[in-house]
Formats: sequence, C-alpha cells, structure tokens
Amino acid sequence: MKNSSYRELIFAKWIVPLEGKKSILSDHCLVKKDHKIEQIIPADEAIEIFPDCNRIELKDHALLPGLINCHTHAAMTLFRGIADDIPLKPWLEEHIWPLEGQFVSADFVKLGTNLAIAEMIQSGTTCFNDMYFFPDIVAQTAESLGIRAAVGMIMLDFPTVWASGPDEYLSKGLKLADELKYSTLISPTFAPHAPYTVSDEPLKRIRVLADELDLPIHMHIHETQHETEQSIDQYGMRPLERLSKLGLLSPRLIAVHMVHLLSEEIQSLAELGVNLLHCPEANLKLGSGISPIKQCLEAGINIALGTDGVASNNDLNMLGELRTAALLAKGASSDAETVTAWQALEMATINAAKALNIDNVCGSLEPGKSADMIAVDLSALHCQPVYNPVSQIVYSASRSQVTHSWVEGKLLMKDRQLTHIDTDQLLEQVSQISQNIASN
Ligand SMILES: [Zn+2]
Repeated sequence: MKNSSYRELIFAKWIVPLEGKKSILSDHCLVKKDHKIEQIIPADEAIEIFPDCNRIELKDHALLPGLINCHTHAAMTLFRGIADDIPLKPWLEEHIWPLEGQFVSADFVKLGTNLAIAEMIQSGTTCFNDMYFFPDIVAQTAESLGIRAAVGMIMLDFPTVWASGPDEYLSKGLKLADELKYSTLISPTFAPHAPYTVSDEPLKRIRVLADELDLPIHMHIHETQHETEQSIDQYGMRPLERLSKLGLLSPRLIAVHMVHLLSEEIQSLAELGVNLLHCPEANLKLGSGISPIKQCLEAGINIALGTDGVASNNDLNMLGELRTAALLAKGASSDAETVTAWQALEMATINAAKALNIDNVCGSLEPGKSADMIAVDLSALHCQPVYNPVSQIVYSASRSQVTHSWVEGKLLMKDRQLTHIDTDQLLEQVSQISQNIASN
C-alpha cells in the first residue's frame, strides 16, 4: 500500500522548531504524515524525495509550534469588558461571581467556549488550559472544534451552578476524567480554584487522586497581597506554606499568578519542581502586582504563559501576552537581558507543554510529535526588514498575521478562514446573549 497519499509537505520561508535550540531553518520543509510531524528537511530534498505529495507553500511565513494558553477560563469571553478597572476582590465578589450565578449554564459555557476557541485559533493558540464550570461542555466543545485542551475538574468549597460542594465537584470531575481517557486531544487536570476558596480536606483528596491518576493540579496561588494576608489571619501561614504542608508543591502543580513571592519561596518552588504560570496582562489589569519573573528564571523554575479569562485581560491573544511578558520583566527588573524573545516564545510553547505534561505530544516541531503548529506571515510592512523572524514574531507582529493553524495535522484555519466555525452564526448567538446580560 502506498503511504504517500497521507503525506503533506509544508514549505515555509522559516521554520522555528523550538526543540531546545535557537534554530531558525531557512527554506526547509516540514513533512507531515497523518497527524504527526515525520521530518523537517531542506526544501529541495523534500521535492526530490516526495515529488507527488500535496504541498502548501508559505513563502513569507514562519512556521512554529502552536501557542499554548496555559491558563484561561474560556467561557468568560461572554463577560468581556463587563467590569473593568476594579481590583480582584471586589471584581470577583461584587461583579463576576453574581453574574456567573445568574447567567452561567451549559449553553452559556458552550457558546462562550466556542467564541474563545474562535479567537484563540485566530491568534495562534492551538491548546488551552481551562478552569471553569461545566468542564464537560468545555471538553465537548474543544473536541468538536478540533483544538487541543486541558480541562480542569474545578473545585470550590461553596455551591455553584455546577456542583453543590466538594463531594459533587469531585465526583463530576472524576466522571469527566474517566470519559476523557481515550481522547487524544483533551486531557483532564485537577483545578482547585485557589487557596482562599478551597479548604484543607478537599485539597488533601486532590493530592492523593492526582498522584494516583498522574494528573496536573491547576490552581490560582499568591495572586494578591490580600490573599497572603488573609491566609496568615485564617491559617497562621502564607498560602504556599499551607500548600507545602498539604503536600501539593510538586512538578504536578501549575501555580497560576505567583505575584507575591519571597526569595525563600522562589528557591523552594525551584527545588520542588513547581511550574509557574505567568499571566502578566491580567495581573496588570487587576492591579495585582508584577510576578518576579527574573528571579524565578534564575532559580530555574519552569515558567509558562496564560492570558487568564477575558474578563480580566480583555483578550485571548497569546502573541500579545508573550510580548507583554518580555517587556514587563525587563522593565520590572531594569534588565534588558531577562525574558529574551526566545524565552518568551518558549514560555508560550514547550514550557507550557511541560507544565501540562504533554511535551511528548506537542510544544515543539519535532519528528514524532503531533502536527500542532501555526504559520505567521511576516511580509507586512511593519515587519520589514526581517533579520530575525523570532524578533519579529515577539516584538513586531500582530495576531492578524497568523494565517494557518493545525492541530493533529488538521487545518483549523487556512488563510485566516476558520475551517470548523461559522463565524456569522457565532456572532449572532453572542449578540443575542449579550443583550440579555446587558439588560440585567
Ligand atoms: Zn484565572
């Protein structure tokens, strides 16, 4: 049987594999076989070896691994711009939680996640790590639209529209994890919301189950000064010390925000292999502070990037986020050498894949990995001249220059057109629900 019909050749002006080296391959070809990357070879060699294969020519483009948005709440796109310019505590307690209580349902999550996925694909994201209510609907929506996702089994002490308390959050989450066992696209994580919303007993159960099931734990930690002070009042210790006593600090943990950190905490996070999930724009917008990324990098912590939910960002643009990460770390540390363009790109790709424990599947362009990748057109006037495409991607390009996106080798966007999403219908549905929310 001839195998050539399963192959496709993707020629790009530059290929940036992010395989652990700072390599930029000019005039190369990525050979895609079925849903995987078979090899990356010089363009003339590919033409000679595979003369009859389908070809995609990307003459002005850089081909790179798809971006991974390692912390978001996808369905919150439907709350974009609804409560701006407010600090985290009143933002949550007086605006977001009441709105969620009133409007969040399975249909809301489906539509909001659909809108988020459309925006993410158009901005170069091929995988997102989600934490929200109705994670079963998030999983179904992502799977049906062909995007990769890690879906959080959310846990809170108090009742919400999704569950009545810790027992039900856990049983519903575990049922979902079981249903996802055979999915190649969607993987589960434990997602206790934050130290201030989840008490010790559920956290102990999550730690044991995460070890048993070999799953990551995704949690907001040390987002604000108020959070650490409240923990000292309530538990007599900072949240990280409490989580350490509960045995949660390990390479399984994806610790989101980590804005307020002491030097000894940074050292201990590095020694224990905790992953730090940096959301610079949400931290800036909520006035939460600036995470000490330079010190964390120097300590050797694996750092990935996320946008957080749209209600606190207000977009899902990972290209923008990695630029903010690079600029903010330099400004905050008065050190232009911290968070280089390469480091920012690694945070949005391979580092995130490591945090999610899927770096054997995606996060870089290497033979045997899933063909999860994007093409960025660098022909625009504001990207000229191109001495170094990585510099252009991080510091000059905008998300509208992402032209193609593949997940598991399937095109989710071709020449800016989404292949699986009817945008007119989506916009109509979003318009209807936003009128209901606005008239509240
Ligand atoms: Zn968040």
